[in-house]
Amino acid sequence: MRKEFIDLTGDIFGRWLVEERAKNEGGKAQFFCRCSCGMERIVRSADLRNGSSRSCGCLARKIWSRNLRKRRAQERRRKKAKLRAKKVFKVRRAARSETRR
Ligand SMILES: [Zn+2]
Repeated sequence: MRKEFIDLTGDIFGRWLVEERAKNEGGKAQFFCRCSCGMERIVRSADLRNGSSRSCGCLARKIWSRNLRKRRAQERRRKKAKLRAKKVFKVRRAARSETRR
């Protein structure tokens, strides 16, 4: 029995605009999609509908780089805090040795 074909032409999934039907692969419907960044790719209908493909990858790259920036800032803050803690520790130790003398 042939599965019903769902026409997604003209629909938008994330950054994908579905342009036209592409050749089936392994009995699965595929579509030519254009990403909002201009990239064109054939995407499986199922991937579009279940949300597992929402862009050519530029969206993921953007999120990733944003997270990277956040991570770097966090690391810098952590390092600074560590440095400050070390300084305080040194000062305290110096003060202690001073009172011991
Ligand atoms: Zn893109």
